Amino acid sequence: MKYANSVLDLIGDTPLVKLNRVTEGLKPTILVKLEYLNPGGSIKDRISLKMIEEAEASGQLGPGGTVVEPTSGNTGVGLAMVAQQKGYQTVFVTPDKVGEEKRDVLRAYGARVVVTKTSVAPDSPESYYGVSDRLTREIDGAYKPDQFSNPAAPASHYESTGPEIWRDTDGRITHAVIGAGTGGTITGTGRYLKDVSADRASGPVRIIGADPDGSVYSGGTGRPYFVEGVGEDMWPGNYDQTVADEVLPVTDAESFAMTRRLAQEEGLLVGGSSGMAVVAALRAAEGLTEDDVMVVILPDGGRGYLAKIFNDGWMTEHGFLPEAADATAADEAA
Ligand code: PMP
Repeated sequence: MKYANSVLDLIGDTPLVKLNRVTEGLKPTILVKLEYLNPGGSIKDRISLKMIEEAEASGQLGPGGTVVEPTSGNTGVGLAMVAQQKGYQTVFVTPDKVGEEKRDVLRAYGARVVVTKTSVAPDSPESYYGVSDRLTREIDGAYKPDQFSNPAAPASHYESTGPEIWRDTDGRITHAVIGAGTGGTITGTGRYLKDVSADRASGPVRIIGADPDGSVYSGGTGRPYFVEGVGEDMWPGNYDQTVADEVLPVTDAESFAMTRRLAQEEGLLVGGSSGMAVVAALRAAEGLTEDDVMVVILPDGGRGYLAKIFNDGWMTEHGFLPEAADATAADEAA
């Protein structure tokens, strides 16, 4: 019989698949790593498992404990799944601007969700950081992983994501393209790939950051953008600036157009940060040769974005789909 003993044993070991259509005209082999195949649906399952295991090992989390984290996204799902399997409670704090559907996913895993007002200063006790700090103090046996500064987050990528990529490319990878949010993925994966290839005759793996245009990682001020999960308006503790050799800014419009093409032409229903990373990869691949092997990490799936990136109305409303607006007008005129 072939089965896993627990859903936690299915985290990681995600496959690489070659892009065949959107890469037309480019010489390198461009492979994408499908992180939506993790059981919680995103790359965040990896850090969730490692952060909880480390907290257990250090005694910060024990029987009857509760995991408290200000998150509504993929990390919440990963933490909810891992904590539940290990017998812990979870409390997530989310601002009220976050859609009800995202909160429902967390509740479906058995988590408690506390909603805070978006319209308060970040340092206010009413903010979602403030409320999560208070709950961590008040709840007996509470532990706050803090994915922005917890060293277990990049460590999980150093120990799993990086080695998987090196193994599956037989050490032939020349470039890795990785988006940064908290910075854990690029720091841990990039550092491993550089370390393992440091003495290679052809030189170390080149690490290319992909970033929403406007975010600090690519030289922006932190002004808003719509791609979710990536980019920052501050420098988190887990982002090591020495890892990326370059960071390429990508606009929302480019990211979303590519996200749609990945679904329609490559059969990959992925999120906007995946489209963003592929745009950066294709740009970086210009001028490279047949000998180059590029790996692009695709952090999550597209189901959570059906009402946005995959919705013509939303895309047109935000100016990301001018052709569709014209086409509709033409259809109506005809
Ligand atoms: N894409 C998505 C959809 C994410 O949720 C995240 C996590 N914030 C990332 C990319 C970036 O990963 P990291 O936080 O490790 O930089």
